[in-house]
Amino acid sequence: MRFEIVARDGSSRARAGLLHTSCGIVETPAFMPVGTAGTVKGMTQAQLEELGVQILLANTYHLYLRPGYETIRDAGGLHSFMSWPRPILTDSGGFQVMSLKGLGRATEEGFRFRSHLDGSSHFLSPERTVEVQLALGADIIMALDECVEYPASHEAARRATKLTGRWARRAKEYYLNTVDSGAGAQSNGVPSPSSDSRLQTLGFCSDPPHPEPQVPALFGIVQGGTDRGLRGESAEEIVEIGFAGYAIGGLSVGEPKEETYSLAEFTAGLLPWERPRYLMGVGTPADLVECVSRGIDLFDCVLPTRNARNGCVFTSQGKLVVRNARYAREDVPLDPACQCAVCRRYSRGYIRHLFAAGEMLAAILATYHNLNFYLDTMRRIRQAIISGHLSKFLESVRG
Ligand SMILES: [Zn+2]
Repeated sequence: MRFEIVARDGSSRARAGLLHTSCGIVETPAFMPVGTAGTVKGMTQAQLEELGVQILLANTYHLYLRPGYETIRDAGGLHSFMSWPRPILTDSGGFQVMSLKGLGRATEEGFRFRSHLDGSSHFLSPERTVEVQLALGADIIMALDECVEYPASHEAARRATKLTGRWARRAKEYYLNTVDSGAGAQSNGVPSPSSDSRLQTLGFCSDPPHPEPQVPALFGIVQGGTDRGLRGESAEEIVEIGFAGYAIGGLSVGEPKEETYSLAEFTAGLLPWERPRYLMGVGTPADLVECVSRGIDLFDCVLPTRNARNGCVFTSQGKLVVRNARYAREDVPLDPACQCAVCRRYSRGYIRHLFAAGEMLAAILATYHNLNFYLDTMRRIRQAIISGHLSKFLESVRG
């Protein structure tokens, strides 16, 4: 994987780049819609392509439990299984284990947890999560980490941060041994997506096809909670181990927004300039804009898709709860300034009716619009960086 910085903003830490992955180019800054179980809820893959999604996130925890990573590996990997020809990032599964309170427990060895589906016992170690992610065949895979809760005592934050460092080392070592011994995704039974004829007919690869099988890139994760000292130590250790890209974890977990921005900026400043930086699980459209200006390249968040299913849409005028009765007779689009296929065709009144009637189309239309809003926000900020107008853009967004 190669990261190419094509423009940088003179007045902030923002940069625009091209992430060359094993199966296509991602223009950064980029937002990754969350496809938890190998699907972005409510969207077909064709709709995601139409929206211009360049990279998706899928959750290892969910795919590991159902349908099982062996099933996906034997189907030719996640690209082939879900018929998605563009890049995929998988997470390590650790965050899901921890967020299912009472079901998981971190030990030195890894996470021992019970399935939320049937209560069965499982174990996820730093090595095991790399093994599972290689079998899934994503383009970017993540090292296992332990997210520090908010608020956390200094001792708890320190313990989780140190454990994350030891796990990162183990993940890297396993990754190198596996990839070097030729037992990576391809020779593990996962064919390269570029050799998949079904994906080829779907227009696989915006990059020229690679002559050699490509191995997924491994990203490390910086933790440290809200303590700058710990953030610094964690960044130093993770960078010293060395990864293709760096994620900032443990933010947007309940701390004040100013603290999120300030810690994102602080941590991003400790990471190598020439590597991509991914802020995990953040956030609102305003968060994306603010954090791009603080040096972040990649984002994921369930907000646009989850909010949409609850009848809440993002617009150029702020959030709007379209399921409210007050919109029943409004014959205007969700966002009059939006050019998406939903806003060009449907009224707030109609979509409000779909929500009130419990129609599945309600969630589909709201999700489509929300994803378009997020992707369009990223495209506009990228354009502003390239054309040298980011500060003007920030002013207009901040109002
Ligand atoms: Zn729209």
